[in-house]
Amino acid sequence: MDKPMLNACIFGLVLTLALPILASADQFEEFRFPREKSTTEDGYPTPLSGKPLTKTPVISKVEGASLKEYPEHYIPGKETLPENEMRITVLGSGGPAPLRRAQAASGYLVELGNGDNFIFDIGPGTSGNLYSMGVHPALLDKVFINHLHLDHIGGIFPLFDAMGWARNTPLQVWGPSGTTPELGTAAFTENIRKAAEWHVQSKRNLLPTGGTTITCNEIDVSKFSPENPSQLVYDKNGVKIHAFPVVHCIEGSLGYRLEWNGLVFVYTADSEPSTFEAEQGKGADVFIHEVMPSAEEFALHAKMPFEHAENVMGEHTSPEELGIVFGIAKPRLGVGSHYTLGDALVDNFFKNVGITYDGPVLLAHDLSVINVSPEQIVIRQAKTSMLATVPDAPALDGVDMNPGEPSESKTPAWLTETRIIK
Ligand SMILES: [Zn+2]
Ligand SMILES: [Zn+2]
Repeated sequence: MDKPMLNACIFGLVLTLALPILASADQFEEFRFPREKSTTEDGYPTPLSGKPLTKTPVISKVEGASLKEYPEHYIPGKETLPENEMRITVLGSGGPAPLRRAQAASGYLVELGNGDNFIFDIGPGTSGNLYSMGVHPALLDKVFINHLHLDHIGGIFPLFDAMGWARNTPLQVWGPSGTTPELGTAAFTENIRKAAEWHVQSKRNLLPTGGTTITCNEIDVSKFSPENPSQLVYDKNGVKIHAFPVVHCIEGSLGYRLEWNGLVFVYTADSEPSTFEAEQGKGADVFIHEVMPSAEEFALHAKMPFEHAENVMGEHTSPEELGIVFGIAKPRLGVGSHYTLGDALVDNFFKNVGITYDGPVLLAHDLSVINVSPEQIVIRQAKTSMLATVPDAPALDGVDMNPGEPSESKTPAWLTETRIIK
């Protein structure tokens, strides 16, 4: 091979190797925050643009009333929640696999002006968002589970793992019973605790042990009936939470209605649309309900056979159906969650929900923050640190900070004898 030919070959080889690198570099532009492209074709903010996916970021109760101003982004630690406000944060806006970096699976944090905090669902990927919100893990001990699909509970280990280093009281979980005991939340939490046995034993003489248990408050789903549509499952410090059943796959899916200080938060998560759940959502300030793209769109996104996508969608709610549910419940703000985000899919969502509903709607995105007061609802995106640290620990009375007894299990002496002496 002569020299010019050799050079051409080398150039060709370099180009072939470089092209995929350039192409993948382009793809990584998508992960910038905020993205440069900031609106969809129909004029909605695009996912990752730093703006919530809605055209109604401010909803006032009385038109023309003078409203409180909020900073453009919610930054943890820089704002105190006023005594009469509720702050709802989307910890995860996604649904089932494939889990995406920009969309954790289902999870919501509800903070109240009285200092109480509640977690609704703890899907995979939500814990990083949760811990970036500036709430000390000792105050994140109450979890309400909608149903036991893994995209709603699969992030419980990182939350449980705050035991000892941050949360020194039991993790409290509320969730549905099932048709048989093994289908219920008590069996789930018992198995989670059992699966963590090595972890707990290995640390119990090093750290306080008060956080190493999970308390389950299982809600008996057999008690629901047309005469008994909901159950009061939490009543403390002025906060009431009712559970009610929803239609999703098999028996054991719940919706929750939290009432505090005249404000109402309703979360139904996964469900086929029903007039029953819409009735339970009446009078909500914020009603969060699942929504999924069409079977065609989901099959394309998840690269699954259309028939399988159709089976999945049968257990869920389309944007048009979501509009019908909101039309009955008439919340101040309706939120669609559990959707696959993408520029075209955002437009399709709003087009289709708009066929049946004309009230204010937000399409949930991770770290959308909703401030709710009697006068107004304000939606922003949070800017949280990717290197967030734990805030100062709260003073809690009666918490035993003493480590416990060591495990009987020991590393073999022949191995520990080889340890390098510090
Ligand atoms: Zn789900
Ligand atoms: Zn589900």
